[in-house]
Amino acid sequence: MAQLILKPGRERSVLRRHPWIFDGAVERLVGRAKSGDTVEVVADDGRILGRAAWSPSSRIRARVWSFAPDQTIDDAFFKRRIAQALARRADLPELAGQEGLRLLHAESDGLPGVICDGYGDTLVLALSSAGAEKWRDAIVGALVKATGCARIYERSDADLRALEGLMPRCGYLHGEAPAVPVVISESGVRMEVDIVAGHKTGFYLDQRDNRLLLRQLAHGRRVLNCFCYTGGFSLQALAGGAASVLSLDSSVPALAAAAPNLALNPELAAGRALWREADVFSELRALALAGEQFDLVVLDPPKFAPSPAHAERAARAYKDINLYACKLLSPGGILMTYSCSGGIGIELFQKIVAGAAQDAKVEARMVRRLSAAADHPVLLDFPEGEYLKGLVCQVA
Ligand code: SAH
Repeated sequence: MAQLILKPGRERSVLRRHPWIFDGAVERLVGRAKSGDTVEVVADDGRILGRAAWSPSSRIRARVWSFAPDQTIDDAFFKRRIAQALARRADLPELAGQEGLRLLHAESDGLPGVICDGYGDTLVLALSSAGAEKWRDAIVGALVKATGCARIYERSDADLRALEGLMPRCGYLHGEAPAVPVVISESGVRMEVDIVAGHKTGFYLDQRDNRLLLRQLAHGRRVLNCFCYTGGFSLQALAGGAASVLSLDSSVPALAAAAPNLALNPELAAGRALWREADVFSELRALALAGEQFDLVVLDPPKFAPSPAHAERAARAYKDINLYACKLLSPGGILMTYSCSGGIGIELFQKIVAGAAQDAKVEARMVRRLSAAADHPVLLDFPEGEYLKGLVCQVA
């Protein structure tokens, strides 16, 4: 096995169990390693720190599989790590009865670059690192054995694969395409999941807890759901007894999936729901100009700042939509606002929303500060920005 020798002092983050080794931390590679091969991580003083996957074309030059110096990385290793990840979720009370579940959350489950979402007996696997790519068969074998799933579809098409020198890859790795569309129940609300063409692996599982919170808050309220995608928040609002729900999205395919989702839930009175193809930035202005008011506004936009370099422009975009959302709120109205921008941490996000409320001349109080769902664990020593952040505010 080749050895990755670290520069002096650069062992510190590895000793803190951060799994990424950047190119600038690497002194040299002793021996030969191909993309995805396991290398031994060695500090400048000769201490062996663990084993990692080598990724020659990425700035993240290696991702640590194990911090144990003598851990063999083989099929059995993946079997154990996957069993541990599944056991972690089995104990979480908020996941009971959920048919859509993140089963493997990459670095946070000790499996860098490996995402697996389960939609009933259909699993969707997304591999984004050189190491994950190398161990695809072991991962699939362990998942099939541990879950007894009917099929595994690979959706390794995220842009960040290119940074690891990997081509996009999609297709069935186990079983066949289902005869009928994949449908899950999220606390009793049925949603179709397009695993082949939908965003990410087909569904935004990280927003589950927040959708369920909306369901609890929605009763009797006029709800405006911005960036609705296939209607996840909208349907939970209806299930919670919202007086009306206006949903906005600029994507025609997303909206085309939303109406059938509502039809899958005949108990939800469809007459309360209105869907509108619109750009949220201009539609919020138009609604304000028309003097419209809502009792609850949801803002769940796409990533405006993928990295800190985009933070300033993104901050302006967040400010804009939050400002207009505040203007549209009735007295006592609630704003549920989210960001999944890597370049913007929760502190900055809170400042942006506070500034927006001030400019809208509303007095707002934060009633909750939220993050991703329980099946999306976060390593303590990981860039906080990478994950979903949210605030729930109430105006006076
Ligand atoms: N809240 C959703 C996920 C939202 S994803 C859920 O829980 O499932 C972000 C959505 O924003 C996508 O559907 C995308 O089509 C939409 N979008 C992106 N830019 C937009 C814009 N300027 N106006 C309206 N919708 C936009």
